[in-house]
Amino acid sequence: MVVANLPLNPTVIIIGAGAAGLSAARELKKQGISFLILEASNRVGGRAYTESTSFGQPVDHGCSWITGSDENFFKYFGYKNGLTLLDHTDAGADTFERNGLRSSPDSQAAYIQAGYEIEDAINEAGRSGKDIPASHVISNLQNGNIYQNWEGALNFAVDMDKISTLDYFRARSSQPSYIVKEGLGTLVSKLNKNFPIKFNTSVNEIDYSGHQVEVATNAGKVNARYCICTVSIGVLKSESIKFNPPISYSKQSALDDLNMGLLIKVPLLFDGNRLGLKENYRVEYDLSKEDIGSGCYFLAWPTNHDYLMGFIGGAFGWDLYAHGQEAVVEYAMQKLIFMVGSGAKKHFIKGFVSDWADNPLTLGSYSAAKPGHGGTREILREMESEKLLFAGEATEPEIYGLVNGAFESGKNAAIAISKLVN
Ligand SMILES: Cc1cc2nc3c(=O)[nH]c(=O)nc-3n(C[C@H](O)[C@H](O)[C@H](O)COP(=O)(O)OP(=O)(O)OC[C@H]3O[C@@H](n4cnc5c(N)ncnc54)[C@H](O)[C@@H]3O)c2cc1C
Repeated sequence: MVVANLPLNPTVIIIGAGAAGLSAARELKKQGISFLILEASNRVGGRAYTESTSFGQPVDHGCSWITGSDENFFKYFGYKNGLTLLDHTDAGADTFERNGLRSSPDSQAAYIQAGYEIEDAINEAGRSGKDIPASHVISNLQNGNIYQNWEGALNFAVDMDKISTLDYFRARSSQPSYIVKEGLGTLVSKLNKNFPIKFNTSVNEIDYSGHQVEVATNAGKVNARYCICTVSIGVLKSESIKFNPPISYSKQSALDDLNMGLLIKVPLLFDGNRLGLKENYRVEYDLSKEDIGSGCYFLAWPTNHDYLMGFIGGAFGWDLYAHGQEAVVEYAMQKLIFMVGSGAKKHFIKGFVSDWADNPLTLGSYSAAKPGHGGTREILREMESEKLLFAGEATEPEIYGLVNGAFESGKNAAIAISKLVN
């Protein structure tokens, strides 16, 4: 049943009210084209999600950095909406050695240098057209383990052997970067200008075999001339949405050529004691080659909130998550205590774990191209039968995995459709 004041015969159906879906809606509204958004959950934002219920202060479960911010819509949108943006570009780090002691300035400088060398080596491979696992081009650096853990499991959400050198090379610079005191999810939700959104409406079939697109949901069917589908590739890969006719072979192959990576966030609330860690600093430790990928690193007291944000990802993240929330929080606490000492326990109040791994509306955190397939993202956004378009972070060749990539993709999908309508 369609709720009152939602359009009965929209020109476009948008599936998903995340950054891509809201951006598509914004553009269609600007162009005077009618639309209806179908959203399976009871909120907007998707993987951009801030809530204040758990800790009484805003916590981002999904995206939190506005990266490459000189070109990032959300920086300007943040200022326009009066939110508090903090420049996090040259953030410092509290770094610890394998024995848990603090690193000397010299060894910290060596870790930073090794990071630049790793980045250069991967970019050089991509630039020269090599599309191989990033792990293959990393020279035997003494000091690169911290960076590999950040860049693989925690930044790309897959380990270094699962990163395509070409996909990596094509990514735009992530600097400068900002964080938002009120939460990046809060900012993304401000894209919704009272749009017609049907919440709690899960799409299970898209039939584009006829003149119109017919979208079947748990709450009935809706028809439109065009459809923009913004669900994650985790959802698409799970085949919980059927397509009639099936999506093209090239698109199915492109989907197979992308992994849905996992980044888990583990916010840990403390009583106000700062445990000797500086506000907005990264907290990281060196680890052995065999342990790269299993590191739980932190962002300390982001924008002066009373929690540390823990990060765990990649293959290790999937395995650990399968042991349950308690096991993940326990692991994060162990790693923290290893650095700051067991005195942290008496200041600890509570922690939790973001659920992206088994949330049926995401099934992972964000996309990474498999080595050998760094150029496949564009295929996902080619229109099917002049009626069906995919958008979302995974479809962006240079700003994939990011909320601004999702935003740009939704806008571009709406522009493509507007050219057919007008
Ligand atoms: C832990 C984590 C950290 C991140 N950190 C950053 C960061 O610091 N900076 C950054 O820029 N990006 C970051 N990202 C990535 C960023 O959050 C995403 O790229 C972006 O939010 C994706 O937006 P989207 O619109 O493509 O997809 P989504 O936000 O997933 O939107 C899709 C929508 O579709 C809905 N949906 C799914 N299935 C159905 C269905 N069957 N029927 C109807 N609706 C459905 C979902 O509920 C969702 O609302 C992070 C992501 C995660 C998970």
